[in-house]
Amino acid sequence: MRTTPPSVCLVPPLTPPQVPLMKFCVFDSSMLYPREDSATKKLTYACKLCTHTEPADTNLIYRNILKKGAADVLSNVNSNMIDDPSMSRTANMACEECGNMEAVFFQSVMAGHDSLPLILICTACQHKWVG
Ligand SMILES: [Zn+2]
Ligand SMILES: [Zn+2]
Repeated sequence: MRTTPPSVCLVPPLTPPQVPLMKFCVFDSSMLYPREDSATKKLTYACKLCTHTEPADTNLIYRNILKKGAADVLSNVNSNMIDDPSMSRTANMACEECGNMEAVFFQSVMAGHDSLPLILICTACQHKWVG
């Protein structure tokens, strides 16, 4: 039986204070606006006067904060979960360590966070990470 993966939005709202710094266009010095590149799903800053865009590191910062908090969660995750048939599985998340495409995942509950990060466990090398 297929289980429906829980839907979690890890993209922060593009409003202060999540956007830590203002960026300005190198060509015309107008303010750059954060927007998600629909093709790459990456956050970029785009100029409204010209076509200049540059990658934003906001996602990275936000995710690192999440990861910091999730480190405690990860250390308590039992790797034996990969043998539990009741766990949800995904074939779309490449393991950060070995590149294996199958992982067991579940939502962690973290105090102080509105969005619940996904905890993933590689079924090949048992590497645990936050998705
Ligand atoms: Zn510009
Ligand atoms: Zn792995």
